[in-house]
Amino acid sequence: MTTHHRRAVVVGAGIAGLATALRLDRADWEVLVVERAAGRRSGGYAVTFAGQGYDAAERLGVLPRLAERHITPDRMDYVRPDGRTRFSVPGPTVRAMMGSRSLNILRGDIEDVLYTAVTDAASGRVEIRFGSGIADVRQDPDGVDVTLDDGTVERAALLVGADGLHSTTRRLVFGPEEDVRLDLDHMVGVFMLDQVPDGVEPGVTASLTDTGRTLAVVSVGPERAVAFFGYRTDHPQDELAEGPRVALPRAYGDMGWVAPQVLAQLDGAESVYFDTISQMVVDRWSRGRVVLLGDAAWCVTLFAGYGSSLAVAGADALGSALERHPDDLPTALHEWEAEIRPEAERKQQLGRQVKGLYAPADPFRLWLRDLPLRLASFRPVSALLQRRLQLTS
Ligand SMILES: Cc1cc2nc3c(=O)[nH]c(=O)nc-3n(C[C@H](O)[C@H](O)[C@H](O)COP(=O)(O)OP(=O)(O)OC[C@H]3O[C@@H](n4cnc5c(N)ncnc54)[C@H](O)[C@@H]3O)c2cc1C
Repeated sequence: MTTHHRRAVVVGAGIAGLATALRLDRADWEVLVVERAAGRRSGGYAVTFAGQGYDAAERLGVLPRLAERHITPDRMDYVRPDGRTRFSVPGPTVRAMMGSRSLNILRGDIEDVLYTAVTDAASGRVEIRFGSGIADVRQDPDGVDVTLDDGTVERAALLVGADGLHSTTRRLVFGPEEDVRLDLDHMVGVFMLDQVPDGVEPGVTASLTDTGRTLAVVSVGPERAVAFFGYRTDHPQDELAEGPRVALPRAYGDMGWVAPQVLAQLDGAESVYFDTISQMVVDRWSRGRVVLLGDAAWCVTLFAGYGSSLAVAGADALGSALERHPDDLPTALHEWEAEIRPEAERKQQLGRQVKGLYAPADPFRLWLRDLPLRLASFRPVSALLQRRLQLTS
C-alpha cells in the first residue's frame, strides 16, 4: 500500500468542502483541505436547508447544531415603492410554509457548524490550510499530484474540487468555465447591513419587487439584517466586470423605498457578495482521480434554493460510495454520480423555470409570483396552515 492510499486533497472550505472533509474522515480517509481565503468567512445570506441535505446532516450528526442556528423572521412584508405594505405574511405562517424538516440558516453558520465538527473530530486526520490555492494537477495511474500556489506538491488518491462556481480545479482538469457556464441573465448582490434602514422594523424581512429587480432587507436575527439585490440583465458578464459599486447603484438608484439608505452602506460594507446567477452544466463530474462537488460541479443557483443542501448530500453520498468500494475508485465515483445527478438536474431545471418569476419582468408574472404568499397572508388560509401544522398563532 502506498502512503497516499486513502488520502484526499479537498479544494475549498465552503459547505461542500467541509462536509466532504467530515464525511471522508468518517470513512477513514486522511484529508487535506486547502482554502484560498486567509481565514474563515462568516455571515452571508440566509439559505433554506432541507431535503436530501437535511437527511445527510442528520446522518453526519450535525443537525442539532444546525437547528440551534435556525432563524425565522417575525414577519415578511411585501412593500410598494413608497414604503406602504402591500401585504404581510406572519412569522408562524412562514414557519408553517417551510415545513418541519427544513431550516432557514445563514450560509456562514452552516460552514461554522461543519468546521467545528471537522476540527473536533477525534481522528485528527483532517488538516485545513488557509491562504492556499491550487496551481496545477497531474494524474498518473497510482495517484494525483496537486501543486499548490506556494509550489508545494501534495500527493493523494483523490482530489475533490469543492471550490465553488468559479472553480480552479474544474478549469485545470475539465476545461474553461465558459464552456460549461449557463448564465441565467440575473445578478445577485448581498451584504451585511450595519444599520437596519428606517422603515424596516428589526426582526422583519421586507422586500420590494418591481419589473426585473428585487431588493430585500432580510432579518437574520435580532438587530442583524442583510441587504439582498437580485436583478435581471442581458449582460451578466459585463455587470460582473463592473463590480457591485458601479452596477448596484445603477440598477437600483431610482427604486425608491429604502434603496438609497441601503446603497449608502455599500461603500462601507465589509464584504460584498456579487456574482452572476449561473449554472454549471458539466457532463461528467469526475475525470480519473479528480471529482467536482457542490457549486463547482452543478451550481443549481439560488433560484432552486437547494445548493447548500445538495452540497452536504453530495459529500455524504461520496463518502458512502468510497466505503462501498474502498479499492475501486472508478466504480465509487460512477455510482456516486449516478446517485446525485438526477436530483441535481431536477433542481437545475427548477432553477431555470423559476428565474423569470424571481424578479419578474412583467406585471402579470409579478402578480402570479405573489399569489401564494398573498393567500398565505389571508387570515383564514394562515389559520388553516397553522392548525394543519399544529402551530399556535
Ligand atoms: C444569494 C444566495 C442565496 C442562496 N440560497 C440558497 C438556499 O436557499 N438554499 C440552498 O440550499 N442554497 C442556497 N444558495 C446556494 C448555496 O449558498 C451554495 O450552493 C453553497 O454555499 C455552495 O457551496 P460550495 O461549498 O459548493 O461553494 P462556495 O460556497 O463557493 O465555496 C467554495 C470555497 O472554495 C474556495 N476557493 C475558491 N477557489 C479556490 C482555489 N482556487 N483554491 C482554494 N480554495 C478556493 C472559496 O474561497 C470558498 O471558500 C444560495 C446562494 C446565493 C448566492
